[in-house]
Amino acid sequence: MQLRIPGPTPCPPQALEAMGRQMMNHRGKEFGEILRSTTERLKQAFQTKGDVLLLTASGTGGMEAAIVNTLSPGDKVLSISNGFFGERFGDIAQAYSAEVIRLAFEWGRPVDPDAVEKALSGHSDIKAVLVVHNETSTGMTNQLEEISAVVRKFGRLLLVDAISSLGCINLPTDDWHCDVVVTASQKGWMVPPGLAMVGVSERAWRAHAQAKMPRYYWDFGKAKSLLEKWQTPWTPAVSIFYALNVTLDLMLGEGLDNVFARHARVAEVTRNGVNSLGLSLFVDEKYSSNTVTAVNASDKIDVPELVRVLRDEHEVIISGGQGKISGKIFRIGHLGLVCEDDIKAVLEALRKALPQAEKG
Ligand code: PLP
Repeated sequence: MQLRIPGPTPCPPQALEAMGRQMMNHRGKEFGEILRSTTERLKQAFQTKGDVLLLTASGTGGMEAAIVNTLSPGDKVLSISNGFFGERFGDIAQAYSAEVIRLAFEWGRPVDPDAVEKALSGHSDIKAVLVVHNETSTGMTNQLEEISAVVRKFGRLLLVDAISSLGCINLPTDDWHCDVVVTASQKGWMVPPGLAMVGVSERAWRAHAQAKMPRYYWDFGKAKSLLEKWQTPWTPAVSIFYALNVTLDLMLGEGLDNVFARHARVAEVTRNGVNSLGLSLFVDEKYSSNTVTAVNASDKIDVPELVRVLRDEHEVIISGGQGKISGKIFRIGHLGLVCEDDIKAVLEALRKALPQAEKG
């Protein structure tokens, strides 16, 4: 079976084996050592000298934590969106009573840094900017470096959903002045869902000291003070740590640059293969993601049927579209444990399945 959705991703056998290990005392020395070495290697992957906190949560928990730890009710935030997850980030801020100014682009269209600049010029009291690095719903990577340069010019906090990019697509957290960066274990990290990893800058800590949004489980302060003893405030997802300990070795052993290059190569094979089947991409190739490719279904392809045929007859699992583009696109995930041959097999299955999924 080939699981080619944009997360959860397949786990290498070594990670699955590691998870079969007996439980241990999460307040004991042995777990402390796992937490220490995991945190230190994650800092390398995040390319940060700041803190990286591990929260037992899915990615959305990490997004919520980013907001409640840096903002107060009534704070103005600029929520940039061009897809399903960008909208979610703004919704979370709104749920916690931030005053959300939405800068929305059409789904699948790039964020225009000039529009970000205009929005920030028009509202002098914006506290933070929310943005998704890799919009999984549309297969688009936003130009985070350019967006971050604008945000920095205005001295605002930058909160980044990098859930489906970090560890796969270059994101130098410190160089790009990202204040809170969130990713999740079931994406490029090749382990099951259960951990959100969150990078926190010095500036974010200063914001945290002033932030009044209600928080308890998500409190970065509690996480940081326990991390000083190599513990977590609440019982962590111990088995996922066992697995992550193994996959971080694999990733750093391969070398981050090589991991990024592999994702770029695999994505190119995917895009070329899709084009050669006579299909078109949902986003302009210049912005297309190296972790997930979104393909236009046009009026000709019945997406649920395509997903079914691939699953039942070819043992390939892909995703349909989300939200308002459900039925209009399908998505092939290629992040984490993936190589060119995996994708060639997916493309071959797609070639065979397409005629069966054509609308009559
Ligand atoms: N943001 C992005 C960009 C994602 O890809 C996802 C998951 O697909 C999420 C947020 C939500 O993460 P989770 O489902 O782990 O809560």
